[in-house]
Amino acid sequence: MGASSVTFCCMRKPCPLCQAEPPGLTFAGVCESCATTLALEPMPPSKRPPLPCHRCKHRELIRVLPRELTSVPGTGSREVAPMFAVYGPTVIEGSFFSGREVNAPDPQNGAGKMEMYICRGCGFTEWYCQDPSEIPIDPLYSTEAVSVGGDGPLR
Ligand SMILES: [Zn+2]
Ligand SMILES: [Zn+2]
Repeated sequence: MGASSVTFCCMRKPCPLCQAEPPGLTFAGVCESCATTLALEPMPPSKRPPLPCHRCKHRELIRVLPRELTSVPGTGSREVAPMFAVYGPTVIEGSFFSGREVNAPDPQNGAGKMEMYICRGCGFTEWYCQDPSEIPIDPLYSTEAVSVGGDGPLR
């Protein structure tokens, strides 16, 4: 993290979750440690145009950065991570005596971070990807490129 400034002040607020008294709270109103444990991140710029719901024209939506609820491989302890479109394999280099080992993907090792918009009127949900250019097009990632024809994006 960036340069830390030591402040001793009676205004220091405890983290509402763990009750620790960090030098400051994160954007989420909790301490750095709790924000990391909960995989909380500031909202990136929106990918969705500011249009009403495509189904019912309602104008109030809920934007969500969904998270995966999973467990740390090999330990069974719970873990939460941002949801990605794809995940790569985990390849562990072997030693002189053993070959490479291929394991299930690490939930932190994804590409194409997802976000969703949920209509508060009808519940219709739209998905967007923050960084589609980072998603590999490869059967290894269960992806394929689909062209819908024409000369460019439809307007
Ligand atoms: Zn905390
Ligand atoms: Zn709707």
